[in-house]
Amino acid sequence: MKDILSKKIPINKPSITDLEISYVNDAIRNGWGEKCYEYIHKFEKAFSGYLGSKHALATASCTGAIHLALMALGIKSGDEVIIPEITWIASVEPVLYIGAKPVFVDVLKDTWCIDPQKIRESITSKTKAIIVVHVYGNICDMDEIMKIAKEYNLIVIEDAAEGLGSVYKGNKLGSIGHAGVFSFHGTKTLSTGEGGMLVTNDAAIYERAKILNDHGRNPKDGKTFWMKEYGYKYKISNLQAAMGLAQTERIKDLVEKKRQIYSWYADILKGIQCKMNPEHTDTLNSYWLPTVVFDKVLNFDREAFFTFMKANNVDSRPFFYPLSSLPMFKSVESNKVAYDIYERGINLPSYHDMSEDTVKEVCQFIMHFLRGV
Ligand SMILES: *Cc1c(COP(=O)(O)O)cnc(C)c1O
Repeated sequence: MKDILSKKIPINKPSITDLEISYVNDAIRNGWGEKCYEYIHKFEKAFSGYLGSKHALATASCTGAIHLALMALGIKSGDEVIIPEITWIASVEPVLYIGAKPVFVDVLKDTWCIDPQKIRESITSKTKAIIVVHVYGNICDMDEIMKIAKEYNLIVIEDAAEGLGSVYKGNKLGSIGHAGVFSFHGTKTLSTGEGGMLVTNDAAIYERAKILNDHGRNPKDGKTFWMKEYGYKYKISNLQAAMGLAQTERIKDLVEKKRQIYSWYADILKGIQCKMNPEHTDTLNSYWLPTVVFDKVLNFDREAFFTFMKANNVDSRPFFYPLSSLPMFKSVESNKVAYDIYERGINLPSYHDMSEDTVKEVCQFIMHFLRGV
């Protein structure tokens, strides 16, 4: 085994081919004036077509898309929004932007996604929405979640930033709730550098989000520069959308590569006492980030592991801390699963161009570490 790899193994990075370069090249040369939205519209159309959603609105980030979705769906200051303990902080920040109250709910042991039974137990008269998160590519129990939402008249936003390409009972994640959101940050399965998308099957939600994303400008008002209300601006640029269009045309390949990389990891690590991303019947996992939660018996020391991996030039990441454990929130330690597993959890490199040999190298370091160095 090589002690120090000559090149750092990144956690993730976009897959760039001549297609991305040619579209971005065209956009930078020609995509101005009356063509300044051309790639944006093409990107939205290709993306909604792939996903099976009626409408798609490209944004500068997923965080912005969540903010727009919450506002377009009528969530207001004082409302309660149910959200899983285990997710990236961007899932909850827009809830705070509008002055609503996040209610953190525990996750399931196997998928690390929100526990539907715990959703039920957290509903109050103030609950207006549920943000579900398909964490690390894993798939939420959407039938049960939609059933609860219907029963209590709640809005469901799917944060599918990590679930692009995953499928639940024949439907792509993000297309099942009242709205779905995606991120195209440089670490995500499909990238535009920075970027996001809001999708919905509801024309009214889409129209509302579009107006809010354009400073409150409503073409129906008929007068240029005359607004009835103020809005926001989370627009994507035509240059970024050009890259997004190329990536969307390659999405099947991008997801396939993620699945391939995951299967290499799963194969090599199957002898280790741990849990990895599951793939239940009737679902397809796009495995954004191969994740390992070591069994308790291994006494896994996460900080020592990161120090070891860093010294060996391998980028790896911690499983998300329970959100409520962050200093700006009040901790909800009764969310036992989240609080129990996070310290034993790690995410592994999975950039599309990663070779089987590199996966083997990463696994050798893991094994080496577990044997005790
Ligand atoms: C990456 C991510 C986001 C935020 O995406 P940005 O495009 O960086 O705003 C939101 N939610 C989840 C679950 C994410 O992983």
